[in-house]
Amino acid sequence: MKRVPLSSSNKGKPSARKTLANLRTGLTYDDVLLVPRYSRIRSRHDVDTSTKLTPKIALNIPIISANMDTVTEGEMAVALAREGGIGIIHRFMSLDEQVAQVRRVKRTESIMIESPYALGLDAKLFDVRKMMREKNVGGILIIDGKGKLQGIITSRDLRFEEDLNAPVTSVMTKRKDLVVATWGKTSIDQAKKVMEDMKIEKLPLVDSKDRLRGLVTAKDILKRKEFPNATKDSKGRLRVGAAVGVRGDFLDRAKELADSDVDVLVLDIAHGHSDHAIDAIKKIKKTVSNIELIAGNIATPEGARDLIRAGADSIKVGVGSGSICITRIVTGSGVPQLTAISDCSRVAKDSGVTLIADGGIRNSGDITKSLVAGADSVMIGSLLAGTDESPGEIVFRGNQRYKVTRGMASMAARRDQLEREGRLKGIKGEMQNHGEEDLSDYVPEGVEAIVPYKGGAVSVIRQLEGGLRSGLSYCGASSLRELRSNGQFIRITDVGLVESKPHDVITEL
Ligand code: GDP
Ligand code: 5GP
Repeated sequence: MKRVPLSSSNKGKPSARKTLANLRTGLTYDDVLLVPRYSRIRSRHDVDTSTKLTPKIALNIPIISANMDTVTEGEMAVALAREGGIGIIHRFMSLDEQVAQVRRVKRTESIMIESPYALGLDAKLFDVRKMMREKNVGGILIIDGKGKLQGIITSRDLRFEEDLNAPVTSVMTKRKDLVVATWGKTSIDQAKKVMEDMKIEKLPLVDSKDRLRGLVTAKDILKRKEFPNATKDSKGRLRVGAAVGVRGDFLDRAKELADSDVDVLVLDIAHGHSDHAIDAIKKIKKTVSNIELIAGNIATPEGARDLIRAGADSIKVGVGSGSICITRIVTGSGVPQLTAISDCSRVAKDSGVTLIADGGIRNSGDITKSLVAGADSVMIGSLLAGTDESPGEIVFRGNQRYKVTRGMASMAARRDQLEREGRLKGIKGEMQNHGEEDLSDYVPEGVEAIVPYKGGAVSVIRQLEGGLRSGLSYCGASSLRELRSNGQFIRITDVGLVESKPHDVITEL
């Protein structure tokens, strides 16, 4: 239950001070180090990095991929969830597309697939191949008009088939030859045993009337071993989040995303301590009360308190901290990230909600520092933007490989958004249609940039996780809870920072 300390918004708070006397200093990651403590940890594999994304959602590593269109779509979300974190699908696409991305992640692996892909008896082999390609699966079930199982076709059945106009019935393994199990009465271990004994790769699940209800695949059973730390829901599906805004179709999005079984919603607004955000939180919580809601971004305890009061299950902290962000330059506003996390964490802790440190993470050491300052997890953008799983192509500069990343409030992102929505002034001819916008009025708070190409996201995530594990060991902590109580910051100078990095050597070989 959330216990929110009573207090009202801005009035009389230190943040409203206008004089320069007695100003606090805000600190960020490079201003501090963690003091090494006595450690009983013998191997960094002995530390536990599990945490909570929200009070109801557990993660095995405290890493979230950012809801940016150069960072997280389905592929990144799958990679993060398999490693024990979670990805948040961005919102700069149509509602249908975003829902499809969420569905794709939820179907990537399962303990038992509900309503597996199926075609009717009148389908042609051509339809089977199309569905296999579109859905990226190797087996399609065949059912009759009443939903009763009639057969299965796997990619092996199609391998040498030349006449794709032939009916499915000519090739499918027929019902009488199929091994099946009973829906609702078969455990995953029983399913596994049947599949091993019968040497089959797919086990359809039927009800008492022989209607197709589910499917277990050998691939999913193997994936359970391959990714033992994966972030999964109660049905064994990978978890995934999705972002919504505060305007336009945001409530429809929230509802449809909830219907597509999204695990968590992120209310994505640059200045989260605002009427807009608070109204949106209340409306979303009223419409989809069963879905956990992360809200932000904020950088003050007052912001944290107001969002929690409105109903947020987790708060996202970071104003101007992101690598591609120019909010602090354009507006003059922001709080150095470590101070912001520390200030907000007291309110979050008292209220029983979680805190996400968003933006500015450049290495694993920053993750450890943000957790000691009070974060439960971190959101990462540009560090993951240069990987295979992030949207976008590799670009060359000289013979070096890069990928493009950009702030979601950059001019380029805004232009693409207006164009996609058909609202970019001048695009639809000379007539100025209702709702059209002129980019010259837009004040960007983000930039477009490139980041070095890094290959697969998994190696980046594992480096971050490994560094965090070592970080726990240096703090003498075997869990994130111990890290928070043992961690001790020491403030450093610019000279100390120089000493912290490689120095007096040439690192480019
Ligand atoms: P194969 O090993 O290439 O034959 O692939 P499978 O068809 O056995 O598995 C494909 C993957 O897609 C598995 O991880 C499934 O969990 C997933 N999947 C999701 N929905 C479905 C579905 O309706 N049918 C099948 N066959 N797989 C599905
Ligand atoms: P990074 O990990 O790249 O340092 O930071 C990622 C975070 O930057 C995102 O999660 C988001 O909070 C923030 N961000 C993304 N785009 C923009 C933008 O255009 N402007 C600002 N101010 N922040 C952004």
